[in-house]
Amino acid sequence: MSVSTTKTKPAVQVSDLTKVYGSGETAVSALAGVTLDFPAGRFTAIMGPSGSGKSTLMHCAAGLDTATGGTVRLGDTDLTRLRDAELTRLRRDRIGFIFQAFNLLPMLTAEQNITLPLELAGRTPDRDWLAHLVDVLGLRERLGHRPAQLSGGQQQRVACARALLGRPEVIFADEPTGNLDSAASGEVLAFLRRCVREMGQTVVMVTHDPVAAGYADEVVLLRDGRPAGSIDEPTPDSVLAALKLLGA
Ligand code: ADP
Ligand code: MG
Repeated sequence: MSVSTTKTKPAVQVSDLTKVYGSGETAVSALAGVTLDFPAGRFTAIMGPSGSGKSTLMHCAAGLDTATGGTVRLGDTDLTRLRDAELTRLRRDRIGFIFQAFNLLPMLTAEQNITLPLELAGRTPDRDWLAHLVDVLGLRERLGHRPAQLSGGQQQRVACARALLGRPEVIFADEPTGNLDSAASGEVLAFLRRCVREMGQTVVMVTHDPVAAGYADEVVLLRDGRPAGSIDEPTPDSVLAALKLLGA
């Protein structure tokens, strides 16, 4: 019954993380001491009221922003101790990102968008793995298209392939379905869940959508920059109820 026994070792460990924006009178405490693990091979959703620190937590955990205090460990590496250049390399080599706005380069084809980060890193894409991702994501007929010729759902599936191609230790997704209709959202979320279940991928997703959170293995709740509980095996209903209790 104890859910904690089914958890694997953490891919990312956040310890006493604090983040203050600004200083003096106008200082805003976005994270007020967050300690939590993102287990390897699991799909974790971060939820909470607007302004509760979700994006700040994800950005600090992903090395996109620097924390004010505390530590972030990716495997054995403490991100908070890295220099800028080391952090850039770590993000490139060990983390995958999926953003709400897709962030594809408009002049490149879908295939070029998928392979560009690896090529910039001087790595050779694994062609079999690329072919597998393309097939699973239903992008085979779209590889030569530019983003403007693709639907939002297709663009986000291209972004998913790009994030997965380098087999990162963790994928961070910030509102990945925020710009998609429900059918396209379902496809992207089902893919992320499949990556976790079948490929052992670790996914951390910020979302405000209880339906999206229902695809995760666990929901971590934030309120006022602090952990405010978690939900195992979340369903849209259980997530909605927990958010109501938080005043979201
Ligand atoms: P969420 O993603 O849960 O809506 P955020 O992490 O974006 O919350 O923000 C947490 C708090 O930090 C909010 O009070 C927000 O106004 C503040 N905040 C976020 N980013 C900045 C920033 N760049 N400068 C100042 N305050 C910020
Ligand atoms: Mg946010």
